[in-house]
Amino acid sequence: MIKYKLICKQCNFTFDSWFSSSRDFEKLKKKELINCHNCNSIKVEKTLMAPRVISKNFDNNLKKDLKKYKNIKNKILEYQKFIRKNFEYVGKNFTYEARAIHYNNKKINKGIYGSASINDLKELKEEGIDAQIVPWIDDNKN
Ligand SMILES: [Zn+2]
Repeated sequence: MIKYKLICKQCNFTFDSWFSSSRDFEKLKKKELINCHNCNSIKVEKTLMAPRVISKNFDNNLKKDLKKYKNIKNKILEYQKFIRKNFEYVGKNFTYEARAIHYNNKKINKGIYGSASINDLKELKEEGIDAQIVPWIDDNKN
């Protein structure tokens, strides 16, 4: 994004406007789409001030967001590692296995994890079976 200081040749009003590029400015000007914010005239020119480009803050925020996302992702991956190690994967049989444990007192050494639909989870909950939804990242490493 480039910020231009524009001046109206009609009323001498100056104002700031953002454009995606200098070419974008020229294009809009050619199409007479840049109007004075004061008198609506299209006789608007760039002032000689050098264009400013959004830089530091924008980049920093983006970096912060990426870092935050990376931290969350790492936490989820850690959690997944923990679950893989301590729980038994039952895949799509999750609801079946969860019920077996709940109703038949099936003995298990490990908790189970697997996939279930939201509806399945709702039903389980209604039956008093506690299942947690865990955010899951499919990593292709395994
Ligand atoms: Zn004007």
